[in-house]
Amino acid sequence: MSDDATMMVDGIAVTRIPMLSDNYAWLLREAASGVVAIIDPAEAAPAEAVIEAQGGRLDLVLLTHHHDDHIAGAVALAARYGAKLVGHQADAARLPVLDVAMRPGDTLAFGDAQIRMIESSGHTVGHVTYVIGERIAAVGDTLFSLGCGRMFEGTPVQFYASLQRIAALPSDTLLLCGHEYTKGNVGFALSVEPENAALRARAAEIEALRARGAATLPVRLGDELATNPFLRARNAEEFGRLRAAKDRF
Ligand SMILES: [Zn+2]
Repeated sequence: MSDDATMMVDGIAVTRIPMLSDNYAWLLREAASGVVAIIDPAEAAPAEAVIEAQGGRLDLVLLTHHHDDHIAGAVALAARYGAKLVGHQADAARLPVLDVAMRPGDTLAFGDAQIRMIESSGHTVGHVTYVIGERIAAVGDTLFSLGCGRMFEGTPVQFYASLQRIAALPSDTLLLCGHEYTKGNVGFALSVEPENAALRARAAEIEALRARGAATLPVRLGDELATNPFLRARNAEEFGRLRAAKDRF
C-alpha cells in the first residue's frame, strides 16, 4: 500500500515494524494523548529502535494469539517501558502473564480512542482481533492479504465466523496483518478466481511492490473483500474446502 512505515488514521499514527523473516509488529500512537501501543512484538530490539525514535513511550502490548513469533518480545518490552500486557482471558495460560485480561466485546481506553477485542478463533482457538479506533483492525494471523492463517486449532465454522466478523467492519478499515505473505498468496487466489479483475490488478500491484522490496501491508478491508478468496467464501463449508486446497497448493 505504501513505502512509508508510518501512516495516520483518524488521529492514530500506525507504524509497521518488520521482525524475524516475514513478521510485522505494529506500533500505534494516539496523537492527542501520546498513548502508545504495540501489537504482537516477536522481538524487542527492532521495536525499541522505533519506540525510542518516537519519544520512548510504550503503554500497552497487545497480543493476538499465543504463537512465539507474536509474543517473544512482549515481556522485555513491557518491563523496559512499564507497559501493560493485554490479551484474551480465555488464552491466558498460553500467553505471558497478562496485566489486562480482556474478553471479546470488552473495550479498553486508548487515549481519546478505544480498543475493542473481537473473537477471531480459527488459526488458533483464543485468537483475537483488536479494533483500534473506528478504522484500524489488528488481525494477527487470522487474515492475510489474499489469504488467511493456517487452521491449526479451530474448525471451518469457527474460522469462517471470525472472518465474517472482520468483513462486517467498515470497508475502509486498515488491516494490520501479522505476516508479509501476500506475494505467496497470489497464485492460489488467482487459481480460485482467474477472471477477477480487482484481483488481477492487486496481483500486478503486489508484484511491483515486492520487486522494489516494499511492503504490501497494511491493506484496506474493502480491497480484500474484492480479492481475498477466504473472505469471499459464501459459507463455512466453502471456506473449509478452500483452506484445505490452499494447504495442498
Ligand atoms: Zn500464528
